[in-house]
Amino acid sequence: MIDLHSHSTASDGSLAPADLVAFARQCKVEKLALTDHDTLSGLDEASRAANQIGLTLVRGVEISALWGRQTVHVVGLGIDPHNPPLRQALAGAEKTRRDRARAIGQRLEERAGIENAYSRTCELAGDAPIGRAHYARMLVQYGYARDNKQVFKRYMVRGKPGYVAANWMAMDGAITLIQQSGGVAVLAHPARYALTATKLRGLVGDFAESGGNAIEVVSGRPRPGEPEHLARLANDHELLASTGSDFHGPDKPWLKPGGSPALPANCRPLWEVHPLW
Ligand code: AMP
Ligand code: MN
Ligand code: MN
Ligand code: MN
Repeated sequence: MIDLHSHSTASDGSLAPADLVAFARQCKVEKLALTDHDTLSGLDEASRAANQIGLTLVRGVEISALWGRQTVHVVGLGIDPHNPPLRQALAGAEKTRRDRARAIGQRLEERAGIENAYSRTCELAGDAPIGRAHYARMLVQYGYARDNKQVFKRYMVRGKPGYVAANWMAMDGAITLIQQSGGVAVLAHPARYALTATKLRGLVGDFAESGGNAIEVVSGRPRPGEPEHLARLANDHELLASTGSDFHGPDKPWLKPGGSPALPANCRPLWEVHPLW
């Protein structure tokens, strides 16, 4: 099985890189990409663990980027983790994340009366650059919401007390950055941005025009018809197809590494054109 999108404790996943790799192997994944948000810090541990158990690890990253005012995620696969421009740009993104994390904490205190929001979240995030998912976990843990879904709706999306816009790099810049480090650029989970059909077509068109290689035709647990729709979009723009569970941890037992459905038959898998292993 092939899974080209997953997270560890290096960002907002709940398994350490070595544990993620072991769990993926157990779930019959043979090729796994670790794609933590804006950081490469889990890749060494994951590669070592993968070597030991005979799993192929694809070195990846999921870069937060802006398409106009819309935040999108660009997955880089097969990147060189020592590439200086990539490392430098990701250091910038980590700073953006740190600054945003403080601002989120402050807003939660001021607008929702949640005390010590920042320090509590730091404790739970460990060394990872803090994201909204860490805040969500903290808010659930301290009883401010029932579950992840509710906490995002109440606190962490645009217009709510814990939402702070971030000045990520531009989408075309993320594509170039990934490619100059030897990787291929994949538009992550196109259906999850809640765009109208027209806007989604515009996004995929711009992604192709900026030199992007592929889109995730299958991501996580897609809705009925979604992969077929995305396969058509990919083919219309001569983009390749990628697939990934976007696994964040075993707390959602219905979504395991390698657990996404197969790619539709009419699309061209990324790895048949670009050698990733
Ligand atoms: P960030 O990059 O810090 O803005 O956080 C984005 C991450 O938050 C995603 O990768 C998911 O892990 C999580 N996330 C975003 N939206 C939701 C949602 N509506 N429900 C649950 N988790 C979400
Ligand atoms: Mn995440
Ligand atoms: Mn994402
Ligand atoms: Mn992801």
